[in-house]
Amino acid sequence: MVFRVLRPDSEFVWQDLEILRRFSRYRGIIDGTQLARFLIAKTIDCDYDSSDSIENLEVLLKEKSLEFNELLRKDIEEIKYRKTSSNSYIHLAETIANKYLESCIFCERQCEVNRIDGQKGFCSITKDTYVSSAFLHMGEEAPLIPSGTIFFQGCNFGCVFCQNYDISQAWKGERDLDDIAQRVNVKKLATIADKLVDKGAININYVGGDPIPNIHTIIGSLNHQTCNITQLWNSNFYLSNKALSLIINLMDFWLPDWKYGNNKCAKKYSGIDNYFDFISRNHKRIHDEGSGEIIIRHLVLPEHIDCCSKPILDYVAKELPNAVVNIMSQFRPQYKAYQFSEINRRPTSQEILEVKNYANSLGILYEPVS
Ligand code: SF4
Repeated sequence: MVFRVLRPDSEFVWQDLEILRRFSRYRGIIDGTQLARFLIAKTIDCDYDSSDSIENLEVLLKEKSLEFNELLRKDIEEIKYRKTSSNSYIHLAETIANKYLESCIFCERQCEVNRIDGQKGFCSITKDTYVSSAFLHMGEEAPLIPSGTIFFQGCNFGCVFCQNYDISQAWKGERDLDDIAQRVNVKKLATIADKLVDKGAININYVGGDPIPNIHTIIGSLNHQTCNITQLWNSNFYLSNKALSLIINLMDFWLPDWKYGNNKCAKKYSGIDNYFDFISRNHKRIHDEGSGEIIIRHLVLPEHIDCCSKPILDYVAKELPNAVVNIMSQFRPQYKAYQFSEINRRPTSQEILEVKNYANSLGILYEPVS
């Protein structure tokens, strides 16, 4: 296979016993000895009426989460022939997501705009979902390659150094989305995902921009996806608690960013509030309640070792012992970063070494994915 030539580390990484241990379920899905979570969720029958109140539907989802987690513990032979329900856990999650769209609270910006009616919040995305590209990505972390990556247009952040600024924010107010990206519904998105699997993807990787504004379409597409394939959430992770509850049982693998070690730097460079509080809460939830199979991406920013890198690593060591961290050295001062002199350069090798030494001192696993 071409990918083994391009990235031989995607094979070798599985010889690392600690990677195998921490990502055992993900590896099992690749090998066909485990079922992707969404396939199990499809078999859980949920007796509800879509006109029920959001509160009642949220309570039902919580109850059904218990059933889901019981099934998850069973051997694949006991569950693989269960029938798909026409009113499943996924339908329920999709119904709730579409209700949230009427007063959008998908992320912690909490814009509360009616996206069904065409109103736009910070992300500038209405109910419609746009895919800017989808392909087999060979540049992701070694255990993820080849990754069936789907890039969504739009983002809920405003990072001054965004490397994907063309699809995240620079188009806002400038261009019509129908001119620059493909509008997709739930069936079309599922077809894109299935085609990536046909091409050799070992996961479906939702990224952007950010997948958060498109959570309703992504959940809905799971009703139509047919392959036993890992579902991977690759995001700035500024999800609201309620939005995370919709996908926490549906995603097999998590690839969250963790950029800032405090709220002040996040406000300065990404224009968001209470970053550390929300991001740490979400990481803790996926670690303790979700699959717990996580690669945290930490982009080392120049001059931000003490205020950002070290507090993040401290938190990971203390609260997220099963997470693996990608210590990323590839920061470049792109987009509007030149306006901030302290980040208008690449991090030095000394800064990267200091972060890695600190991770070593805390016993954090990073080398196989960095
Ligand atoms: S996804 Fe976030 S930024 Fe976009 S409208 Fe909803 S709450 Fe606002």
